[in-house]
Amino acid sequence: MKKLKNLISVLLLAIMVCSLSIFAYAAEINIDEPKESHKYTVVSINENDITYICDDCGDTVNIPKSEIIVMWNIAYVNKPPQPTDVDDSSYLDLHKDNIINAKDYAVLTHM
Ligand SMILES: [Zn+2]
Repeated sequence: MKKLKNLISVLLLAIMVCSLSIFAYAAEINIDEPKESHKYTVVSINENDITYICDDCGDTVNIPKSEIIVMWNIAYVNKPPQPTDVDDSSYLDLHKDNIINAKDYAVLTHM
């Protein structure tokens, strides 16, 4: 009977350690999980690059126009810009009318 009790306590301990490591693993995932997301709007456009500010956190970035041109995708056209964790479309509303369209493409290619 004492042996059984010992076995049960060892088993319980094993279960506890297991669930603890699962919790630790889950916590680790949670730390990594929230992908940084920004909703950028254009601050200024110059010859070579475009400066954006995030509406949510105020983060500013400078991105070469050559990189923005690569982000252009016909699938974004006639849709509102999305946060950066969804796609690159928030970099593309250069005309700042909250819709991606030919006007934005014109800004990108004619300056
Ligand atoms: Zn942000």
